[in-house]
Amino acid sequence: MDDDDVSARKGSFRKFLEHLSGAGKAIGVLTSGGDAQGMNAAVRAVVRMGIYVGAKVYFIYEGYQGMVDGGSNIVEANWESVSSILQVGGTIIGSARCKAFRTREGRLKAAGNLVQRGITNLCVIGGDGSLTGANIFRKEWSGLLKELAENGDIDREEVQKHAYLNVVGMVGSIDNDFCGTDMTIGTDSALHRIIEVVDAIMTTAQSHQRTFVLEVMGRHCGYLALVSALACGADWVFLPESPPEEGWQENMCIKLSENRARKKRLNIIIVAEGAIDTQNKPITSEQIKELVVTQLGYDTRVTILGHVQRGGTPSAFDRILASRMGVEAVVALLQATPETPACVVSLSGNQAVRLPLLECVQMTQDVQKAMDERRFKDAVRLRGRSFESNLNTYKRLAIKMPDDRIPKSNCNVAVINVGAPAAGMNAAVRSAVRVGISEGHKMFAIYDGFEGFAKGQIKEIGWADVGGWTGQGGSILGTKRTLPGKSLEAIAEQMRTHSINALLIIGGFETCDRIKQSASGTKRRVFIIETMGGYCGYLANMGALAAGADAAYIFEEPFDIRDLQANVEHLTEKMKTTIQRGLVLRNESCSEHYTTDFIYHLYSEEGKGVFDCRKNVLGHMQQGGAPSPFDRNFGTKISARAMQWLSTKLKEAQGKGKRFVTDDSICVLGISKRNLLFQPVAQLKKETDFEHRIPKEQWWLKLRPLMKILAKYKASYEVSDPGQLEHVHHRGHEEPAAI
Ligand code: ADP
Repeated sequence: MDDDDVSARKGSFRKFLEHLSGAGKAIGVLTSGGDAQGMNAAVRAVVRMGIYVGAKVYFIYEGYQGMVDGGSNIVEANWESVSSILQVGGTIIGSARCKAFRTREGRLKAAGNLVQRGITNLCVIGGDGSLTGANIFRKEWSGLLKELAENGDIDREEVQKHAYLNVVGMVGSIDNDFCGTDMTIGTDSALHRIIEVVDAIMTTAQSHQRTFVLEVMGRHCGYLALVSALACGADWVFLPESPPEEGWQENMCIKLSENRARKKRLNIIIVAEGAIDTQNKPITSEQIKELVVTQLGYDTRVTILGHVQRGGTPSAFDRILASRMGVEAVVALLQATPETPACVVSLSGNQAVRLPLLECVQMTQDVQKAMDERRFKDAVRLRGRSFESNLNTYKRLAIKMPDDRIPKSNCNVAVINVGAPAAGMNAAVRSAVRVGISEGHKMFAIYDGFEGFAKGQIKEIGWADVGGWTGQGGSILGTKRTLPGKSLEAIAEQMRTHSINALLIIGGFETCDRIKQSASGTKRRVFIIETMGGYCGYLANMGALAAGADAAYIFEEPFDIRDLQANVEHLTEKMKTTIQRGLVLRNESCSEHYTTDFIYHLYSEEGKGVFDCRKNVLGHMQQGGAPSPFDRNFGTKISARAMQWLSTKLKEAQGKGKRFVTDDSICVLGISKRNLLFQPVAQLKKETDFEHRIPKEQWWLKLRPLMKILAKYKASYEVSDPGQLEHVHHRGHEEPAAI
């Protein structure tokens, strides 16, 4: 039975790629402008997906410079040329800034070089400059070909044969400065680097009382600064899009000294490289330091992060993002018609989307224009829904309104952690407590989950009590796995005693962040790794995608001995190539009998003489460690939204003497496709498989074939839902997503 039959048997994929063929087509892939972690994952995905659909794929080295120079700069790629690059930062095909490509003469040469190799599909990975260049090139294409023919460089037949150039862009930029896309390749990794530095500073600086001014990249875009400020609960942040109000010097100093008075030993100020004031004058890190030293006399240090932010290995998120984009880019190229405008592939929420390149570039330039013209509100709005909601959340959580300015709601709201501790839980509690206080509620913390609740471990919690919680792993409140069933009476009693009007339950998060296994450098070895997650295969699946694994066994997709055999044979074949290592992930509860040991023994026996095996059970290290920037922010934002929702519900019920008995008074908040969604528990009940504690439908299952394709199996891949271009402007009315 081959793999096609396997996926057909499992019947989980509706639309197939079969009707898309790349036969006779040639795709050129290049990286341009500033490099970013994850660019290699995108290159790998383009090459492998291209080869998978039968197209030829060419590396274009050194960005546009290689395209202009031609020769050995444009080389056909094969499956193995992109092996072992998923975990490498930067770009293996090189990137450059190219003056020549800005001229028509340069672009004429580039066109000649492409036509010579039959390349009429271009995949550009770069920032807005690079994508603008690509768009100009596409528009000029027919003119350039005509000129080449007139000069006698190509013949008429070739002009006809290569009449159209299809262009697809992927945004690779650590700044996340491109409009229309929620995340660009490299941003998440850059955030990891920044947060690592902040965490390191925090541990040393706790022993002294210090103020740190941290400058992060972003000459025109404050995304990195804003999100790092959210992720570390910074005291103050300076962004180009949202300059501080006049008189900020005094306000900032008041804020810093207030925080010190609350026993905060460390102040963190984050400054975007391009920070400005309302008069468009730069605000520099040194200037801020001077101010703090002269006004407050605090020991103040400046750290400028610079290129560290581009370095290091790409995060799991960036690898998955780039892999998905790369595959989507090839599909978009194959589906392009002469009428299709150049597009950008991107993710919105957790869904792949295509957007017209020109609209995105236009909007990105509009942001700059708005800043130049000091229309800062417009600048923030144009950056997109996610930026705006980040800014609002930051303001809300960083700056406490004076008590007398908060209208009291007379409601008591309690926060509890349940289930396994997960990275991001503390950030969620901090956010809930602070938003709750600013909505006028009295906030209570419950310790040790439902067990503690029943025993009366409940106390009022204040604004300052949750300071510094965002970066801490585990659950500070304490959590127990005990279900409330047995002690409902005692819990109800506690609710009455403390007059609790609403309860925010935080638990059940899963993250794929802790899977960091590097198997490269070892010859002919297959690693078998067991991941956590109960019956939920998310970690195994996403970990496999991020690590470029050969197989991932999960409960949701049943497998049998034939699958195991096919996988072993696949690995045996693979060992004959230059790629001599394998990686297999197995979710802890994927099968009762095909245990990790069984799989290890089976692979060891079948692989005898060809490869040997190692196994590793990741266990609790997956729940440990400091939370990633994503988890900190996700926890923060989702919890802020949950609190706001609770406040609305409390207000609706007030004065009516009504008790909460309706279905929608108990909800679960999460991301569904592209939006934040409150789902009544009653409705979720229908969608949940209680025996295995997983949803009946899991969005990420559609990424299964992607992992297989990139690992050289035959598999069918469901193309992006609409497979159509969307418009950037049409997305403003939706609920802001949390990522
Ligand atoms: P980024 O892509 O990271 O924004 P740049 O703005 O430096 O980086 O652009 C990278 C390269 O893209 C430039 O060196 C140039 O070769 C090409 N490019 C940028 N803007 C244009 C343009 N308007 N026309 C043609 N090529 C351009």
